[in-house]
Amino acid sequence: MRTALVIGTGLIGTSAALALARRGVVVHLEDHDPEQARTAAALGAGIDEAPQSPVDVAVVAAPPAHVAAVLADAMRRGVARGYLDVASVKGGPRRELEALGLDLSAYLGTHPMSGREKSGPLAATADLFEGRPWVLTPTRDTDTEVLNLALELVSHCRAVPVVMDADAHDRAVALVSHMPHLVSSMVAARLQNAEEAAVRLCGQGIRDVTRIAASDPRMWIDILSANPGPVADLLGDVADDLDETVRALRALQSSDEGKRREGADGIEDVLRRGNAGQVRVPGKHGSAPHAYEVVAVLIDDQPGQLARIFADAGRAGVNIEDVRIEHATGQQAGLVQLMVEPKAVDMLGARCGSGGGRCGSRYPASGWVPPGPRGPGKALPVAVGRMSDPYPVTLCGAHSRPAAHRLAPGRCPPVENGAAQPVIVAIDGPSGTGKSSTSKAVAAQLGLSYLDTGAQYRAITWWMVSNGIDIEDPTAIAAVAGKPEIVSGTDPADPTITVDGTDVAGPIRTQEVTSKVSAVSAVPEVRARITELQRSLAASAERGIVVEGRDIGTTVLPDADLKIFLTASPEARAARRSGELKGADVQSTREALIKRDAADSSRKTSPLAKADDAVEVDTTELTLTQVIECVVTLVGEKRAAK
Ligand code: C5P
Repeated sequence: MRTALVIGTGLIGTSAALALARRGVVVHLEDHDPEQARTAAALGAGIDEAPQSPVDVAVVAAPPAHVAAVLADAMRRGVARGYLDVASVKGGPRRELEALGLDLSAYLGTHPMSGREKSGPLAATADLFEGRPWVLTPTRDTDTEVLNLALELVSHCRAVPVVMDADAHDRAVALVSHMPHLVSSMVAARLQNAEEAAVRLCGQGIRDVTRIAASDPRMWIDILSANPGPVADLLGDVADDLDETVRALRALQSSDEGKRREGADGIEDVLRRGNAGQVRVPGKHGSAPHAYEVVAVLIDDQPGQLARIFADAGRAGVNIEDVRIEHATGQQAGLVQLMVEPKAVDMLGARCGSGGGRCGSRYPASGWVPPGPRGPGKALPVAVGRMSDPYPVTLCGAHSRPAAHRLAPGRCPPVENGAAQPVIVAIDGPSGTGKSSTSKAVAAQLGLSYLDTGAQYRAITWWMVSNGIDIEDPTAIAAVAGKPEIVSGTDPADPTITVDGTDVAGPIRTQEVTSKVSAVSAVPEVRARITELQRSLAASAERGIVVEGRDIGTTVLPDADLKIFLTASPEARAARRSGELKGADVQSTREALIKRDAADSSRKTSPLAKADDAVEVDTTELTLTQVIECVVTLVGEKRAAK
């Protein structure tokens, strides 16, 4: 991506523009209020001038109620190759665009799951999206090129892509953001006319529950108006629980012993269900909850206190996984709670504790508060990979993640994705089954590397063609198979391929290369060379890799953690491929595919084949989102079993 147009320079638009500009993208800024665009430009987010020619991507950052109209206008003007929006609801705007009769293949609805209580360009920061989920909602009609642009945008903003269906997204955000917001407002509203003496008793619990009620009501009316149904459904469920709880509390007031017991059971039921839901709230980076110890230090409310604690922890070689400050009401002191790995408690204690004496002198008002009870059995259930609704909890953000859960010893989520041992995923299958889009999106979503092995065979074929090697002569091909230097970049948001330093990403997709690649890739010396390259890239991928091809599960990485074999009917594959090739004739595409499959499946050396232990997924009737969710779920299950 070289150029972008951000339409709407509020908090989200300007933050995305700042992140893109920082990565060298030329960003144009547009807003219905030119003053706002000027402000964003002055902050370094781009230039507040219209582009002279279509940009690579237009990012529409308008409120949900206006997003369809702004997108439609941009599409009619033809300002970009691909169109994205970042509105907080997805189903409604898509339906509005469909009703306008626009071709939506160049459009992809997205939603970065981050925000602030403040709005406008002045509140924007380039790191607003770092580590946060960014939902992408492709459909059957979405161009692969547009999905790639969206993945690149997410990568530039250092967010984590999560692919979902638009309506599932809206139900998920109702659950993890919109409904909690209203509940927080309703709790905070009880304080409005409360007595001063009562308000003075406010502690951390009510601060946690009401923090998000401070947001701008106008912005929230916009958001809720765009997603009323799912929010009303969930609030209805909350209302049922409220009714039950009120009844149970009234029963507790009864003089009848039996009724009181019933009341207590009712209250216990809601509290236990609350526990069960709360442990599903993932850690900061979406990883599973994890056992940490809480180390508490009492400090004076003075400059430099926190810095000293962090410096001491650093010197002790202790990583602080999370931190929380509780302010003592009416006192100039605070309780700092440091979340650390259990093994780090003693290291930290030796450095800062009363035993070591350093804290006593350096944090004047402090005492070393011993860590909470330790011991086994504190790891929490891991909520990974359920096909029914794997995402709502993944999307939990600061809104729905009550800080209080981080307080209980052993109940704190990790900062790092600790569960992430390297994982090797092999995805094989014929072309047109959705291998590339699936592999790229899965890798991006899980923070893994990505390798398109077909591109490597195409690259060596391109070199043979460019150097006049006779494709019909396997001996001639074998003799020079070791000559070209092929380098694959494994970032799923920007998978590059070069031959002897030349970028060949475009040339390897020509009809000529496509028609010759099967012959070249059948030569054993070519396969040996490329297989070696693939194995070394897989071995060096620190967090793991998704490798797509024809023989990955059978030959290249027979010990892969997960093997998937994608299939689809020839009709579905031909329709997808001709769509990708922008209107190529479906019949001739079908014939070419079948011919290439036959050549790939019948060659002697490592033919296209399903490994015995591969999971076969027929994608004929599935949307891309469903295939991606399926693979992400399978990876989650493999990781949990590791
Ligand atoms: O995946 P793509 O269609 O780009 O692959 C192009 C060709 O590369 C395939 O038709 C096949 O001949 C060859 N290939 C292979 N082994 C792989 C990947 C691709 O032989 N692992």
